[in-house]
Amino acid sequence: MNKTKPLASISLDLDNQWSYMKIHGDKGWENFPSYLDVFVPYVLQVLDELNLKITFFIVGQDAALEKNRKVLKSIVDRGHDIGNHSFHHESWLQTYSKEQIENEIQRAENIIMDVTGHKPLGFRGPGFSWSIDLLEVLQKRGYQFDASTLPTYIGPIARLYYFWTSNLSKDEKRERKELFGSFKDGLRPLKPYYWTLSNQQKLLEIPVTTIPIFKIPFHLSYLLYLSGFSMGLMKLYLSFAIFMCKITRTAPSFLLHPLDLIGGDQVPELAFFPGMNIKSDQKIKVFKIVIHKLQKHYHLVNMIDHQKALAKHTEKKPIISSSLNSGEALKTEKINGRMVKQV
Ligand SMILES: [Zn+2]
Repeated sequence: MNKTKPLASISLDLDNQWSYMKIHGDKGWENFPSYLDVFVPYVLQVLDELNLKITFFIVGQDAALEKNRKVLKSIVDRGHDIGNHSFHHESWLQTYSKEQIENEIQRAENIIMDVTGHKPLGFRGPGFSWSIDLLEVLQKRGYQFDASTLPTYIGPIARLYYFWTSNLSKDEKRERKELFGSFKDGLRPLKPYYWTLSNQQKLLEIPVTTIPIFKIPFHLSYLLYLSGFSMGLMKLYLSFAIFMCKITRTAPSFLLHPLDLIGGDQVPELAFFPGMNIKSDQKIKVFKIVIHKLQKHYHLVNMIDHQKALAKHTEKKPIISSSLNSGEALKTEKINGRMVKQV
């Protein structure tokens, strides 16, 4: 372990088969079909091979089903961190009332604790959805960080593409109208920062890292897509992303999804999904190349260790800033009609 390398964190949103079907508008999701029994042991093995400990964001609905309990418990037994990924995995969470959000967070938290024996200390909203009410609920419930923001300009384009390939009705599209965020999300800071909430308490935000300045995503789904054209192109794109993170001193928070790691050969039910024609072996090959490349420059940790390091950093350097590395003045921002101070 090289302590001189800066930290970067790795997390996986443990979206299950039913949540892909639900967001895509496919029938049958109501029975909560699951691939966790196949996916979890498989990914834990790959992570062991890479000697990597990461954060799994777990969906409460999955933890609530008896059939998933054992595999979900195995995640913490193997030394990984867990976070809360909401109960219902609805990407329109930002339209919930505060009571609904409270209920959603608490329900997921209770069942995740019951199954894994650990209280989640981090949260990521489904489909990068979030609201000020959400942040306030998280802070009140003792969460150490939120990881729901994706600072990118391309969210609306990703959403259009998604709708184009989906079976959603007009009403369902309306519910999902903010999926992947708005153009405005591109203006959000890329480096971790603290929200100052209406009760003057703070909550750390660790955004999913996009390429600094360009604000285009480079999480594993994008890299896998590029590798389909050329492995050389994928490596070049990743090198560029790392280079930009380095020169802007941005510690990456790197995001994974199950379908980045498993192919239609192991989950035939989702074989029709984009990218599922790529075999599992090929996906793991790309994943290992990506991790080795990141490891050359960063010490890779789970998100709670990343949060602890960031918190220590600000204690030493109590400068009010929009990110932990720059000295900008306190900013007040209007979000959803409410004033929020951003430090
Ligand atoms: Zn998700």
